[in-house]
Amino acid sequence: MNSDVSQVLYEAALELAIRQAERNADGEGSGAAALADDGAILTGVWVEAMVDSACLCAETGPIAEAHRTGRALTASICVRWTQPSGGSVLAACGVCQERLAIFGSAILIGVADAGEPGFRFRPLAELRPSPWWDAVHTGPDA
Ligand SMILES: [Zn+2]
Repeated sequence: MNSDVSQVLYEAALELAIRQAERNADGEGSGAAALADDGAILTGVWVEAMVDSACLCAETGPIAEAHRTGRALTASICVRWTQPSGGSVLAACGVCQERLAIFGSAILIGVADAGEPGFRFRPLAELRPSPWWDAVHTGPDA
């Protein structure tokens, strides 16, 4: 994925995170942007709930929209915004990695990086080098 597309995804997620932070009393917000196989950019925000286990990661919006519209995702990034730290890229959590894996282990996931611009995209296969699903598809019974 070229750096222009990477930056567009980052900025789409960052814009949503900033807007959410402006509405939240704690001044924090999280947004996600995902690239679909047809070039569409699907977005979502963190969904707050009364109990932590009912909250939804920002990635769940794009994932649900991809399923609703019959698209496959090829890249996903989540950005958290706080004052005064600004934007920071959050790697997809383990549950979202499971949700994103349905689009294949080559899907690119935004992760924080010490170099410029502060993040990069890595294939899900690098984040999960020994996924459980390999045992299902390549195990002795395959
Ligand atoms: Zn998640």
